[in-house]
Amino acid sequence: MEKQYRLLYDENLCIGCQACNVACRVENSVPDDVYRLQVHLQTKGEFPNLGMNFERLSCMMCENPPCVSVCPTNASFQSKDGLVHIDERACITCKYCILACPYHARFINPLKNVVEKCDFCYETRVSKELSPACVSICPTDALSFGDMRQKNSFVHQKSNKEVLVFPKAHLGTKPKVAFIPNRKGAKS
Ligand code: SF4
Ligand code: SF4
Repeated sequence: MEKQYRLLYDENLCIGCQACNVACRVENSVPDDVYRLQVHLQTKGEFPNLGMNFERLSCMMCENPPCVSVCPTNASFQSKDGLVHIDERACITCKYCILACPYHARFINPLKNVVEKCDFCYETRVSKELSPACVSICPTDALSFGDMRQKNSFVHQKSNKEVLVFPKAHLGTKPKVAFIPNRKGAKS
């Protein structure tokens, strides 16, 4: 692999402001009522010991992506960097990939009638050595992104200091998005 990208979401730093969601919509012209990225809010505990949990929902950029293996036209494919992309010219909107994705990350763009998902803003940002729009906008640095092969990168160093959770790791999908679980607030 040429790069070994990782996106880290630190639940302890997230304040649920939705700036990442808005930045994603603007960067990728995401139509109303569909999402490449969502941050869900959940209260936890009981009064007076209440706390808040935030959860990011988006493509996990699986190293073993079930969405790619089910695609009958190779519209869903994996690059040399291990990122999962969609060639919208080849997408026949059969929805197999939507059903195969265990993270519910894919949707049909109602304006184009093709399947879409988060692609780490590859064309407009990552291919130009910029971070994805959500990472750049986050006011609390809850998100970080980079190449894990760069040992002095922030994402590499933070990954080594923290306990990481890879969502639904038991499925063997090997996500490139890792969570640092919430330690603050009431115990759930
Ligand atoms: S999260 Fe879903 S859409 Fe993204 S690579 Fe994994 S299976 Fe494919
Ligand atoms: S921009 Fe940062 S703090 Fe705001 S919701 Fe997104 S991850 Fe959380």
